[in-house]
Amino acid sequence: MRFDVITLLPELVEAVTQVGVTGRAATRGLIELHCWNPRDFTEDVHRTVDDRPYGGGPGMVMKAECLLKTIRAAREATNKTAKVIYLSPQGKKLDQKAVREFANSFAKSSNEPNDQQGLILLCGRYEGIDERIIELEVDEEWSIGDYVLSGGELGAMVIIDAITRLLPDVLGHESSAEQDSFTENLLDCEHFTRPEIVEGLQIPAVLKSGDHKAIAQWRRKQAIGRTFQRRPDLLKNDAKDNALSSDDKKLLDEYLKDSDSN
Ligand code: SAM
Repeated sequence: MRFDVITLLPELVEAVTQVGVTGRAATRGLIELHCWNPRDFTEDVHRTVDDRPYGGGPGMVMKAECLLKTIRAAREATNKTAKVIYLSPQGKKLDQKAVREFANSFAKSSNEPNDQQGLILLCGRYEGIDERIIELEVDEEWSIGDYVLSGGELGAMVIIDAITRLLPDVLGHESSAEQDSFTENLLDCEHFTRPEIVEGLQIPAVLKSGDHKAIAQWRRKQAIGRTFQRRPDLLKNDAKDNALSSDDKKLLDEYLKDSDSN
């Protein structure tokens, strides 16, 4: 999968392909990153990318002409198959369901020239970009949360990371993403590693039992219980799609009884 990022700070975004899961995916050729700097598409001697807002007021706005040229160059480079996503606090809020849909659409696509093989991620800076760019070239606007960042780069890196770990062959264990929070509208269960006792705190005995069925059941119970306590809104969503099964409801009752007795 190919990510084209339009940014005034390519060195910031490039860090995503240098370390960790995404770094390894890039080294193995599972993802490609191409950064496009709008300054390279300016024509004045100062390579100006911003200007004062019409109507006055504080801050600067990213200019339309250099952004149009940059976006169109990126579209050409991706055979016009990639969607242009503008990172914006005013966009649709990103969640795991959306990330999975992106990842699935790329994983399924074959090498047919018209299949979508990537995303063009447009990062704003200053007060944002000239609104006409959104009208002319942006396919979707996505936000990474209800807060305002100084630029879209961290948002682009979040999208790249979240999609990459769901692509085939990226994670060591295919099932590790399946157990993550938000899969099936549940939070993940808790995890422990050696040593068995840390400052007097023991690991739950079942995890040492070697009984895989009992361990799986305990993990599911913890996931349901934690979700109920920390993010009941997720279970409400779940009720719309696929409500908790009667087995899951029993596990939740057990979890609540366990919590009461502790
Ligand atoms: N004036 C804009 C507003 O209030 O809607 C905010 C501009 S912000 C300082 C500069 C850039 O950061 C935006 O153009 C956008 O690309 C990016 N950005 C800021 N917050 C974001 C968020 N929550 N999600 C994604 N991108 C964000």
